[in-house]
Amino acid sequence: METTMTFEYAPAPESRAIVTIKPKYGHFVGGKFVAGGKHFPTINPATEEVLSQIALAGKADVDAAVKAARKAYISTWSKMSGKERGKYLYRIARIMQERAREFAVLETLDNGKPIRESRDTDIPLAAAHFFYHAGWADKLEYAGLGTSPKPLGVAGQIIPWNFPLLMLAWKVAPALAAGNTVVLKPAESTPLTALLFAEVCQQAELPAGVVNIVTGDGSTGALIVNHPGIDKIAFTGSTEVGKIIARAVAPTNKSVTLELGGKAANIVFDDAPIDETVEGIVNGIFFNQGHVCCAGSRLLLQENVAEEVLHKLKNRMQKIRVGDPMDKNTDVGAINSKEQLAKIIELAAVGDSEGAERWSPECKLPSKGFWFAPTIFTGVTQAHRIAREEIFGPVLSVLTFRTPAEAIEKANNTPFGLSAGIWSEKGSRTLWASQQLRAGVIWANTFNKFDPTSPFGGYKESGWGREGGRHGLAAYLKGVSHE
Ligand code: NDP
Repeated sequence: METTMTFEYAPAPESRAIVTIKPKYGHFVGGKFVAGGKHFPTINPATEEVLSQIALAGKADVDAAVKAARKAYISTWSKMSGKERGKYLYRIARIMQERAREFAVLETLDNGKPIRESRDTDIPLAAAHFFYHAGWADKLEYAGLGTSPKPLGVAGQIIPWNFPLLMLAWKVAPALAAGNTVVLKPAESTPLTALLFAEVCQQAELPAGVVNIVTGDGSTGALIVNHPGIDKIAFTGSTEVGKIIARAVAPTNKSVTLELGGKAANIVFDDAPIDETVEGIVNGIFFNQGHVCCAGSRLLLQENVAEEVLHKLKNRMQKIRVGDPMDKNTDVGAINSKEQLAKIIELAAVGDSEGAERWSPECKLPSKGFWFAPTIFTGVTQAHRIAREEIFGPVLSVLTFRTPAEAIEKANNTPFGLSAGIWSEKGSRTLWASQQLRAGVIWANTFNKFDPTSPFGGYKESGWGREGGRHGLAAYLKGVSHE
């Protein structure tokens, strides 16, 4: 008789002993932590445990932060040579590496993402952004951005909850390298690593006021956006809020970059290497619980390989381990908040009612916290809301196509244009398809690969401007085009 053996993974929990979470946090202004007025809780979405009380910045707090940033800009940072600024950035990068485990544990506790991802992706990439921009600080005049590029002044930076420290690094590192000072607001549900970063700024002896961090909700973000003392707004978040910001800054002199939503097509041609492709599909949509603006959330399969790909994809999905984010074996962690979970549940229900077919592997979800099983919808058409709207969760919509031209037509049929994926063994087909796709980032035979040297950003409703690389630097310098 044939027997099959299955192996269970023993739990491999990461210890949280390395982090010290204070019961209450204030704002980081002018190089010091200052007490806040009102507070709100930040919780661990995997357990609903209250981790700490976070200050909610109002007008006076934002004013103080902008004032500190302006003072540091005028008296210190804009006067300092690029070489000196670079030394601080290197110092920050090295301290982030030294404290990487602490950052990873804290990120996982506050965000719900698997420790494997915060440890191997978020934190190393955040440090890499500081290293990369440290290198630029004294070479700006050789970047092809003019002979004597000048900073913009004070940058107001508003970031989301999906990659808290990494989004901070994308914003702070280029701003500082180019000679700007910053006022940054982390998302309401994930402020803890930004507050630890404030400690790193102190440890690096960064001049007071160069980095200011105010915590709060959307109202704090709006105060930053509308503050007359700010020269540039850099925002990552929803298209809806991006539009509000665009309208708010339109009558002002403020520069702006917006990194917004997406609904990326991940296109599988019939000559694709199927096993590798299945890994890429899983990474494309289930990485970080699908809380990724560039997630490959629309899978376009060429009809003659659709059955085979779906069969293998379902087999692969049975092996995805969902659960405790602190367990080093976990692949998919908790949904970041109750609100986000409600949004995912609502859109998935729309998928059911519009006639798409839902499938999830069997998986036991923890009773506490916010969870959603990895899910695919087949039989999706372009008219379905789940093919058009960003779900921002572990939910994949599967469509099919017959010809390459049809694939491109479907891929581009979206108000977004952040990223796309192409799976094919033919270089000529990949190059052809990438020229037709209206997306800022296009991956071929891979997905969700990030690098500080590579510009990132979108077309259409996915945003304005680029972050990363030379293009990202340009967005923090006067008179240089962003595109
Ligand atoms: P938001 O756009 O609301 O939040 C992003 C950041 O902007 C947060 O720091 C938020 O503060 C702040 N903010 C909210 N309202 C305003 C405002 N009027 N003026 C200035 N700043 C503001 O995104 P959500 O967190 O609510 O997520 C909603 C949806 O957005 C998701 O479901 C997803 O589709 C999309 N999203 C896209 C991201 C991307 O990377 N492109 C990232 C995150 C979300 P606070 O969180 O404290 O309220």
